[in-house]
Amino acid sequence: MPDVVVVGGGVAGLSAAWTLMQRGVDVLLLESTDRVGGKLRQAELAGQLIDVGAESLLWRRPEGRRLVDDLHVRVTHPAQLSASIWSRGALHPMPTGTLMGIPSDPSALSGLLTPAEVARAVAERPVESSGDSSLGDLISGALGDAVVDRLVEPLLGGVYAGHARLLSASACLPQVNSAVARGDSLISLASSAATAAGDRRHDPVFATLPGGLGQLPGILTERLRAASAVVRTGAVVRALNRVGTRWELTVGETRAPERICADAVVLATPSAPTARLLGPHDATAGSALTAIEYASMAIVTYAFGRGDVPSTMTDRSGFLVPPVDGQRIKAATFSSAKWPWLSEAASDVTYVRVSLGRHREEVSLQTSDEDLTAAGLADLGAALGTTLPRPVETHLQRWGGGLPQYLLGHQDRIGRVRRAVEALPGLEVAGAAYEGVGIPACIGSGTRAAEMLLPHLSHG
Ligand SMILES: Cc1cc2nc3c(=O)[nH]c(=O)nc-3n(C[C@H](O)[C@H](O)[C@H](O)COP(=O)(O)OP(=O)(O)OC[C@H]3O[C@@H](n4cnc5c(N)ncnc54)[C@H](O)[C@@H]3O)c2cc1C
Repeated sequence: MPDVVVVGGGVAGLSAAWTLMQRGVDVLLLESTDRVGGKLRQAELAGQLIDVGAESLLWRRPEGRRLVDDLHVRVTHPAQLSASIWSRGALHPMPTGTLMGIPSDPSALSGLLTPAEVARAVAERPVESSGDSSLGDLISGALGDAVVDRLVEPLLGGVYAGHARLLSASACLPQVNSAVARGDSLISLASSAATAAGDRRHDPVFATLPGGLGQLPGILTERLRAASAVVRTGAVVRALNRVGTRWELTVGETRAPERICADAVVLATPSAPTARLLGPHDATAGSALTAIEYASMAIVTYAFGRGDVPSTMTDRSGFLVPPVDGQRIKAATFSSAKWPWLSEAASDVTYVRVSLGRHREEVSLQTSDEDLTAAGLADLGAALGTTLPRPVETHLQRWGGGLPQYLLGHQDRIGRVRRAVEALPGLEVAGAAYEGVGIPACIGSGTRAAEMLLPHLSHG
């Protein structure tokens, strides 16, 4: 019988297991699919393993840095290339010095915005927030719709695949909410953020592992197993019951279920499975979890012959697309240009990936693989103003329910889940559904869940 069972082998669950193992706790990790990693995943394309899920670690947050330090793995950083925004039919340089698209100098947005739109942003207006407001409503009230439509939306689309006018400011960018509550200018807020970022301009912002970020789950699993932790794939956890002071998990097929007992459990699963497991113990938490919506998306990666691609595919890291223009792709990453490790590893291929799909737009993905692949290529060619060569190979990865949406009321919902969990000794939750969808936030939430369980285990 393990001390702790971690349910879910994404980066949050693996981080929880890693933290527990390092404290000498006997851990069993159960992952329902045939592979660990969750949203970190690799596939082979044109002879090279590439990331087809998450690809980039925000290096300025400490959680990811701490984990790779602990693991003694080397990281590598992107090339110093700028990105673009494909807006109104042209590629514009991505404005610098913005806070998730809030400009520190609105006059620098000319070109991307019309003169009238720039003038509206320059003449910032005070806004009022009553409780939880959407990021889009606060920013458009202050700086006009165009700043939201053409700058904030594409940047938020990159993180949440969501919509600025639906996402909660207090859950996604609390400093905006606080500035509005104090009556402070959003331009000044972005300006202070830009100054702070400028002070750290020599520190890399993002990182990956040589070989891709999708290597991380495998490395963690290897280290866990080497330290006698058990990591099982193909193990669906179907039910969670309280038996005395312990937890009993029902695992596997309904016809021949396996029962596993443990002193404590971490549920590091997306909100729907967590609701199924936690709901019977606290109906309020169950319905709060069920109310968390997810965005589905697809990543298409194209491998082109190195000599065949236009220079616009190699002189920048990629581009973002504002939804207001009605294009099907929401972003393109010129992976071989962005990641020197990839360019060196596959020197005769140029990899480019595009992402499609936003929150509540699942219908746009309900089409054949061929259609999505062709749509991505057509948009890519249109953005670059050229007919692209035929890719040598193409890979499509669908991510149904890929990213949780922190909609209005998110923090209340999470508060209800946290209160329910506090009342259930030996149980913790972790993962992207709660306080951050990025990998460092998920690592942090797994680590915290593990640390919260330690006093419970030592009392036992
Ligand atoms: C396409 C895409 C690209 C992204 N790019 C980036 C990026 O570049 N940088 C970044 O910081 N973030 C990125 N993100 C976000 C980030 O990758 C995720 O939010 C994060 O990896 C989620 O980790 P997690 O452990 O919380 O959940 P998951 O990765 O979803 O893992 C949960 C695991 O639980 C398992 N599970 C579910 N139910 C059960 C059950 N009943 N029993 C057992 N196991 C179960 C699942 O199979 C899954 O493996 C991206 C997300 C997507 C979808």
